[in-house]
Amino acid sequence: MKVLMVKRDYYEILEVSREASEAELKKAYRQMALKYHPDKNPGDKEAEEKFKEASEAYEVLRDAEKRRVYDQFGHEGLKGQGFGGFSGFEDIFSTFGDIFGDFFGGGRQRTGNDLRADAQITFEEAAFGVQKEIDVRKHVVCQSCKGSRCKPGTTPERCNTCHGTGQVVRSQGFFSLSTPCPQCHGAGEIVRDPCTHCRGEGVVVDKKTISVNIPGGVDNGSRLRLRGEGEAGPGLPPGDLYVFVHVKPHEFFHRDGQHILCRLNLSVSQAALGADIEVPMLDGTTKVINVPAGTQSGETYRIPGGGIPNLRGPGHGDQIIQFFVEVPKKLNKRQKELFQELAEIDGKPVKEKIKGFFEKLGL
Ligand SMILES: [Zn+2]
Ligand SMILES: [Zn+2]
Repeated sequence: MKVLMVKRDYYEILEVSREASEAELKKAYRQMALKYHPDKNPGDKEAEEKFKEASEAYEVLRDAEKRRVYDQFGHEGLKGQGFGGFSGFEDIFSTFGDIFGDFFGGGRQRTGNDLRADAQITFEEAAFGVQKEIDVRKHVVCQSCKGSRCKPGTTPERCNTCHGTGQVVRSQGFFSLSTPCPQCHGAGEIVRDPCTHCRGEGVVVDKKTISVNIPGGVDNGSRLRLRGEGEAGPGLPPGDLYVFVHVKPHEFFHRDGQHILCRLNLSVSQAALGADIEVPMLDGTTKVINVPAGTQSGETYRIPGGGIPNLRGPGHGDQIIQFFVEVPKKLNKRQKELFQELAEIDGKPVKEKIKGFFEKLGL
């Protein structure tokens, strides 16, 4: 079931007062970022949300102008300014790259680009897990030059501008900013004789089929991270591949977190007298359940462990069956008689009988 997300107050998110100084904001964000950093909490959706939330809050509050607009007009005011938060981690890291360098001492290792792929799976596959082959087009290290970018047999020269580091460091007040060397574009080396296979790029575009092990318990919108399956950059280790899972809806089962819900129609007599009814289970088997006499529409029956396995630990959700009592729309003669007899016992007026009653009075 969808939960409506209410945007939280930025000061509340960072746990600072509305008068917090720049240094206090930075300190607060640093704590949040260290705690909820995706590298420390792989696959943890809650940490991911917290990390994004804190990043967005800090992005606004560290900027005097955005902070002023937010203080005065709140989230709506920022929307009017075209600030819509971050689209994803890449966005956050490219915005705060220098700050993370500060926070984590040396920062994230530079890698090639992360890639995104999509996997379509069935409801059952989401429950029990599946191995999926996914085709990804990506940059891979050139096999001819092994990524060196040089014609085989030649070697690159060390860049004199950055002394081979690929970065030039500039001091800017409080921070020292390092930026890619303008001479060698961050490579640290200059190629005089480029490899012809990759035109000196060190990487070539290749189509690769990747086998992804999708664990049981994933949900629609789950994201899996495959380390090192992203793109190779020139001279850089490959980034990560993020696989977004799309689960096809099931005709009988619905999902509510780890529980699965289904609907079972009962006839009036089954509901009144009780019945043993065979119900389908997610694993393709069936189970006979005892519907008690006097079951009402909307009442539920729970099969413990009949739901989705927990993605992060042992245990399963339940299968929850909701009953609907079906009142027949068409009755044959015999059924009509029996219902009328029933109505007499109930002592409650029904259509046919009301007519009979007035007829008796001679009206
Ligand atoms: Zn090459
Ligand atoms: Zn250089």
